[in-house]
Amino acid sequence: MTGVTCHGAIPAPGAPPSRRPLVAIDGPGGSGKSTVARLLADRLGIARLDTGAMYRAVTLRALERGVSPEDPEAVTGIADKIELDLDDPERVLVDDEDVTAAIRGPAVDAAVSAVAAIPAVRSALVRRQQEWIARHDGAVVEGRDIGAVVAPEADLKVYLTASVAERAQRRAGERRDGATEVEAAMRRRDTIDSSRAVSPLAVAPGAIIVDSTGRPVEAVVEELVDRLRRLGEQRAGRSDAVGPATPSSTAPPVARTVAGLVAGRPINPWELRFYAACRFVVVGLGNLAYPGPLIGAERLPVSGPYILAPVHRSNLDWMIVARVTRRRLRYLVKSEVWKIRVLGRLADLLGAFPVRRGAADREAMATALSALAGGEPLVVFPEGTRRSGDRVVEVRDGSAYLALRAGVPIVPVGLAGTEQAMPRGARLPRPARVAIVIGQPIRPPARAGTAGRGDRALAETSVRAGHVSRSALRATTEALVSAMQQCFDEARAQLGSKD
Ligand code: C5P
Repeated sequence: MTGVTCHGAIPAPGAPPSRRPLVAIDGPGGSGKSTVARLLADRLGIARLDTGAMYRAVTLRALERGVSPEDPEAVTGIADKIELDLDDPERVLVDDEDVTAAIRGPAVDAAVSAVAAIPAVRSALVRRQQEWIARHDGAVVEGRDIGAVVAPEADLKVYLTASVAERAQRRAGERRDGATEVEAAMRRRDTIDSSRAVSPLAVAPGAIIVDSTGRPVEAVVEELVDRLRRLGEQRAGRSDAVGPATPSSTAPPVARTVAGLVAGRPINPWELRFYAACRFVVVGLGNLAYPGPLIGAERLPVSGPYILAPVHRSNLDWMIVARVTRRRLRYLVKSEVWKIRVLGRLADLLGAFPVRRGAADREAMATALSALAGGEPLVVFPEGTRRSGDRVVEVRDGSAYLALRAGVPIVPVGLAGTEQAMPRGARLPRPARVAIVIGQPIRPPARAGTAGRGDRALAETSVRAGHVSRSALRATTEALVSAMQQCFDEARAQLGSKD
C-alpha cells in the first residue's frame, strides 16, 4: 500500500515513495518524551512539536496578567489570542518574546494542569496543533493527548512512561530541585492530567507502551526507529517481513488510563466517589418517582468499555439510565449545558463532556474514543435529540462509528414511560411508571488496522471510509436501530402500553 491511508513511514528499500512519518508521543511528565522526541526527529529529519510548551505559555501569560488559572473565560481569551511561534522547538516565542526559560518555572508547573483542564483552552490549542501538523510533512509531536485527540491518524503512537521515582529524579536533575518536592508536584500533575473530563492523559487506542525506566534514551529511540521501519515494510505490502509485536510492549486494544497504569489505582477516586454519591441520590429518587422493571441487566458487560445506546424521549432519560449499572457512565451531553457555568462544572465533575449537535464534532468524538480507551462505558443517545412516539427514528452513525473505531460493543436500551413522565415542552416532571429493557450487545467486527488521516471526523469517515468502512457503518447502524426498536417495544409492553 502506498501513502494513501498511511501518513508515511520509513520506506522499505524499493517501496513506493511515501510521505514522512507522523509520530505521536504521549506520556506523563519526566517520562523522557522531550529527549526521545528530539533525538527521533533529528534522526528522521522531521520537525518536532512540544504541545506542553503551548499549555505552559498560556499559563505563563495568565499568571503575568494576574488572571486566575481557574477562570475559564479569561484564560481561554489568552489561549485564543496569544501569538505562539513554535517553529524552533528549542526556543518558545510568545508574542515575539522568548519565554523558553520562564515557562519551565515552578509557578507555571503548579498552575499548568488546571489551565490544561479547561475544555475551551484545549479546543483552541488542539486546533492550532492540528494546523501545525497539517503544515508539516511528518513530525514528532509530544504531549498528553496526541495519539487520542490531536493526531489519531499518526503512523506510530507511543505511550512513554517510567516509574514515578525515576521521572522525579530526572526532573529534579534538570532543575536542581529536591527530588521529594518534585515527586509530590509530579504526582499532583499526573492526577489532574489523567482524571480531567476532557482528553485525559491515557494510552491512545493502538499505541505501544514503552517503559523507559532504567533504559538509555538511545535504546528507546532505536526501538521506535525499528518499529517505524517495520511499519514501512508492512505498508509496502511485505507484511511477512514483520514479526509479531512483543506482547509486553504492545498496548491492549482497549487502553488503560495512566493512573491505573502507573500507580495501580483507579482513575480519580474523588470523581468516582462524587459520581457514586450523585447516582445514589438520583437513582434513589428516580426509583421512588418512576418505579418499574429493569429487564436484561445480565446482558450488560460487567467490565470493560461499551456504548450504552438508549432511546431518547425525555430529559429524564439520563438519570433513568444511570440505574442500569453502578459503574460510572460517561455521558455525551449537548454543549449548551456548559453555557450555564455551574451546570457545566457539575457535568465536568460527573465525567460528562460536551458535544455540539448538528455538526461532526471532532473533539467530542475524540474524547469519546479516549473515554472508551480508558475502559469506561459511554452513554450515547443514537437518535441525537429527544424524539417522540413509539418508533426509533433518525439514528445517526455516531454510535456505530465509535463502536467500530474503538472495537467495543453497543448495548441497545429501551426506555418506556419517560415521555409520559416528562414529554418535550413540559416544565416539570410528573410521577409515572418506567420500564428499562437492556438488549443483547452488538459486537462490531474486528478492527482493521490503524487509522488513516481521513478517520479524524465522523463526517469524513462516513464518506471516505479509510478505516471504518461505509458498509460496516451502515450495517452496524441498521442492527442498532432494529435492536433499539425491539427493546423499546418490549419496554412498552412491560408497561402494558401500545403508544
Ligand atoms: O509536557 P509538559 O510537562 O511540559 O506539559 C505541561 C502540562 O501541560 C501537562 O502537565 C499537562 O497538564 C498539559 N498538557 C496537556 N496536553 C498536552 C500537553 C501538555 O494537557 N498535549
